[in-house]
Formats: sequence, structure tokens, C-alpha cells
Amino acid sequence: MSANRVRILVVEDALDIQRLLRSAFESEEFEVQEAGTLVQALSRAASFHPDLIVLDLGLPDGDGLAFIDKFRAWSPAPILILSARMNEADKITALDRGADDYLSKPFGLGELLARVRVQLRRGFKTEAGSNPNLEFGDVVIDFVQRTVTKEGQSVNITPTEYRLLTALTRSPGKMLTQSALMREVWGPHFKDSTHYLRIYVGHLRRKLENDPSQPRHFITETGVGYRFVK
Ligand code: CA
Repeated sequence: MSANRVRILVVEDALDIQRLLRSAFESEEFEVQEAGTLVQALSRAASFHPDLIVLDLGLPDGDGLAFIDKFRAWSPAPILILSARMNEADKITALDRGADDYLSKPFGLGELLARVRVQLRRGFKTEAGSNPNLEFGDVVIDFVQRTVTKEGQSVNITPTEYRLLTALTRSPGKMLTQSALMREVWGPHFKDSTHYLRIYVGHLRRKLENDPSQPRHFITETGVGYRFVK
């Protein structure tokens, strides 16, 4: 087994889903290990050094959220939640605790693989990571000069818009909750004023998206928050 293959740890107690994920990931040339319990997940994570974790929340010996807390103490590797818990509060809790993305069961394998690829791109980018410019579509953000251009033309961005843009684009592909964004851009006292967020995301879309009514980069995750996609 080659040392530079991507390693994925699947934490899931349902054997049929384990099997499905193993065959999907192996067809992508990923190296896969499974854990069916919380205890096993922690010991596998420590010995296998996964590049990405797919995590079910309902495990026989505990809650997947407890895995996030412990794992985040030593690894920044992306965690993609795969869970039958559908409600928004659960998603928000998992994301705020340190998960990177969330997919509800039942899920489509194509979408799962696409989201895994997004997370892996982020991971590799972090390691390469000294480029102060970010490019997406025909937009270039220069984080040193604090300037934004679209199709080579300078775009006028207010300080609040710039803070939001920075918060959103720092982690491409990561689902960010409304409360996390509010806290970062407006501070702790405004965390319930989420209409600000809606308005300012609208500004960014109008200035930076080719079609603001069909955004491709600043994506709404209904009821949860937003996701920036390169
Ligand atoms: Ca389960």
C-alpha cells in the first residue's frame, strides 16, 4: 500500500453502509478503515492517522459528538458527519463542535464523494497554503493588499463585507453556522441579528457572483448557515 494514498476512517455501526462506503472509497483509490463504536473510532483514529473521517452520530456506545471533541484535540483532519438526525439544531451543534460538513441519511453516493473531494482539497490546500491570493470564478481576493477584483476590475468592498468575505472564504467547502459567522463578523452581542448576515451575503453575491440569483460560490445551507465553494 502506497504511503501517500488518502486515508479515510469510516465510523459507522451499520454494516451495509460500511460496505457501501468501503467499495466507493476503494474505487477512488483511497485507503479505508472502519470503526463500529466510539471506543474503536478513537483508537483507529490515533493509529491510522486518517486524512478524513466520515462519522455517524448514533453509535452503540455513545454519541459521535464525543468523538469530535476528543479527536479535535489532536487533529485538524476534516470530519464529514453522516447521520439520520435531520434537524437543524443537530447539524448546528455538530458544526459548532468542529465538524466540517454534514450529510443526512439517506444520502446519494455521488454527493458524498463530491463532498469528500471538497474536504480533501481543503486539507491539501492548508499544507501548501502560503498564497495570499484567493481566486474563484473571475474574482481575485488579495489578502495582503485587502483588495478584490472581478474580471480584472476593482470591486468596492466595505469593511464589514470584507470581514464576512474573509470569514466565508477561509475554509472553502466548510459549512459555517450563522452564529459562528455573526460572532466573527459582528461580535458576540449581535449573534441573534441574523438578518444582517442575509443582507451582507446578498451584497457579496451582487458584487461577486455572475448570477446573484443563482449563486455558485456563496451557498445558503437553509436554516444552518453558509458555505463558500471555490
Ligand atoms: Ca448508527
